[in-house]
Amino acid sequence: MSQAVEVTAIDEQPRKEKTNLLGLSASRIGDFLESLGEKRFRGTQILKWIHQQGVTDINEMTNISKGLRASLSEVAEVILPEVVSVQDSVDGTRKWLIRMDGGSCIEMVYIPERDRGTLCVSSQIGCALDCSFCATGKQGFNRDLTAGEIIGQLWIAAESFDQFDPKTKRRVTNVVMMGMGEPLMNFDNVVDAMNLMLDDNAYGLSKRRVTLSTAGMVPEVDKLGDVSDVSLAISLHAPNDELRNELVPINRKYPLQTFVDSAKRYLDKMPDNRRKITVEYTLMDRVNDRDEHAKELSVLLRDLPCKINLIPFNPFPGSGYKTVTKVALGRFRDILHNDGYTVTVRTTRGDDIAAACGQLAGEVNDRTKRQERYKKRLDEEQVQEQVVKIIE
Ligand code: SF4
Repeated sequence: MSQAVEVTAIDEQPRKEKTNLLGLSASRIGDFLESLGEKRFRGTQILKWIHQQGVTDINEMTNISKGLRASLSEVAEVILPEVVSVQDSVDGTRKWLIRMDGGSCIEMVYIPERDRGTLCVSSQIGCALDCSFCATGKQGFNRDLTAGEIIGQLWIAAESFDQFDPKTKRRVTNVVMMGMGEPLMNFDNVVDAMNLMLDDNAYGLSKRRVTLSTAGMVPEVDKLGDVSDVSLAISLHAPNDELRNELVPINRKYPLQTFVDSAKRYLDKMPDNRRKITVEYTLMDRVNDRDEHAKELSVLLRDLPCKINLIPFNPFPGSGYKTVTKVALGRFRDILHNDGYTVTVRTTRGDDIAAACGQLAGEVNDRTKRQERYKKRLDEEQVQEQVVKIIE
């Protein structure tokens, strides 16, 4: 009896939450060690163990004294998100479904190309912005990812490609913050995670190889320019406010010209004046793909050092849009090209595993009810289609 009482008493002790070292940037890990009365430089050793050697057990960090390892293990740990599944496309694209704390899942994609390998990383579970042509937007929104959950995606990819073995050639050479979510709505965590991507004691990627893509968070673009110099991509998708209000609702708050101006200010803050903004433009059949749209876009961007990336829309169930025709795509590209712009067309990759741009959906415990409304609409449309078929 007395034994049972003792056990109950122990069970009722609140579990002290440990600090997850995974998402701590160099300065944060230094602060953390200092708060424990330890030397800041130990942080560099810990960063290297976690992000360059793939070690997650503090006791295996053997150049740290046994005493420190023991006391650190009392208050800290390295916890990674859980990989639920991995799918490989015939074209070499790889997609992971990754479960985060709380049960929701995000998707992450790796796209190999001749001269590089790009990892498309998510910053939020779902997305609050609800762009009309985006599968992620239809999933609603759950929460921001922590810095550990963001950098954890890169860790998972590195481990998956055996990159922690120094003899293995690095497969992930570029990271784009273009997965699920609007990165600048999760500013601090995204900046911390990007700092780890750039840190020579962690992943050591060059600032040109880490790209943040935003749909138009103007104040945060300005803020980003004060603390970071990663490459910036702006998702425009329309050349005028009327159309963009419809496709990218955040435009009603921050209109197109203010967005383009913020990108220009971002470049002005860079010490290197050869940097360019990447402009992303998803082309949908007879929505934003006409000649006049290309001409309007050309005028809009004339003062912005940029390259334009055209993305043929990747359809998903119930999207209501069709992809651009080859003819319209060619005309759009030529108009911009003839006006002096560098234009690339993004080739669709990972189509067979629904990993193409704009198709990432994950499994979001939606807090916004948007997913429910979207599914209801989809069901109603399917019923209507069946009725039409029966009548025919
Ligand atoms: S396009 Fe980007 S910003 Fe817009 S809903 Fe999708 S994930 Fe969010």
